Amino acid sequence: MGESFKYLGRFFDFDMSDQGHKSELMSLIDELMSDIDHKPLHPKNKLILCNRYVLSKISWHLTVATLSKTWVTETIDSVINQYIRKWLEIPISGTLSNIYLTHNKFGLNILPASVKFIQCQTVLRNALKTSPNDSIKELWKSTNNHTNIQYDIYNSTKEVLKDFHSGQEDKLQHRLICQGSFFSNVAKFSFSQLNTLWSAAQSKLPKNIFNFTIRYINNSLPTRKNLTRWGLASSPECSFCLCPETLLHVVAGCQSYLQRFTWRHDSILNFLAETFQTTNPCQLYADLSGHKSPSIITGDLYRPDLLLITPNEDLYVLELTVGFESNLHNNVKRKKAKYKDLIEDQRGHFNSVKFVNLSMSSLGVFDKECFTFLEMLDTIGMDKRQQHYCIKKMTSYAIRATYYIFCCRNKEWTNPELLNI
Ligand SMILES: [Zn+2]
Repeated sequence: MGESFKYLGRFFDFDMSDQGHKSELMSLIDELMSDIDHKPLHPKNKLILCNRYVLSKISWHLTVATLSKTWVTETIDSVINQYIRKWLEIPISGTLSNIYLTHNKFGLNILPASVKFIQCQTVLRNALKTSPNDSIKELWKSTNNHTNIQYDIYNSTKEVLKDFHSGQEDKLQHRLICQGSFFSNVAKFSFSQLNTLWSAAQSKLPKNIFNFTIRYINNSLPTRKNLTRWGLASSPECSFCLCPETLLHVVAGCQSYLQRFTWRHDSILNFLAETFQTTNPCQLYADLSGHKSPSIITGDLYRPDLLLITPNEDLYVLELTVGFESNLHNNVKRKKAKYKDLIEDQRGHFNSVKFVNLSMSSLGVFDKECFTFLEMLDTIGMDKRQQHYCIKKMTSYAIRATYYIFCCRNKEWTNPELLNI
């Protein structure tokens, strides 16, 4: 009485309560997750294990047992999410929506167990529906009731995934205004061809900086504004300028931090100058010590960041801007207006003059306008592999410099050497 028996992998008891599946699932999840938790692995690898190994381990139960989505969400998802938050150091107020997105949308491509569950049910229902056996088809039809209708609307597991992702994107864009602001901005302005390279650069970061990028993206870093919101600080003010200390303020806004932002800008520019110096026969001018100054060509009125003159007398005027995600495109427009006359003036002196308006965000995301930068790399003879290397490197310069700037908030700046990685 009250016990169940197992036949062909399915538990049966008098009430068909699925208690056997539920308790087996829960102990399996606890065991696997704490096992992964104890391994000395980078958080990204723990997530991969969780997503590929744990979910496939439980997929049998998710397929054969008549569980409800609510049960899976409330029990399995919540256990797994606690571990994910622990590994990525995401506070309880930070959303996980960003990490559920795919790599080209700056996510980690993670799937909650409840979505896996819907996929399993979709596969099962489809197998019944498309069976060559008429009795099985009849079984599908007679069970197309209120419970199964939520799985029967999908034709494939891909559709489940698509639905889930668009739900998360909608949440970030329209409901979580503060935590979704990164996503809304990059969705509008980023040069989408380069987004997967961003993700590749992110995956190479050490644990602390990797986790920093995650919390930057969902705006859950301990800025004073956030600490006040969470009741952990009494005032949201920056110690230098007394403005509210938001993320934008720390990494790209504070007027007292201008030297720090210049240091980040010059670290990236220095990497570019060194790359161009070693890979091509062009003449190089860069607004950095140790290089010929662009003023030699452009005069003192304008001083763009970098000039390249090819052997064919084509002039590339490159201007690098590193700003907050919300300003990615404003910076493009501002620089375009600023250098318009200079570009016109130089046309008489060169075979052609091209303006490379390179706008990056403080987390290393490239603006749409950066296709001109890729064209320039093409022209000076860099192949695709070298271009990708260069882009990834610039991204990691930006992320690492921003991480350092963030760590130095409300402290004195000691004018470190330019970053070299
Ligand atoms: Zn300030």
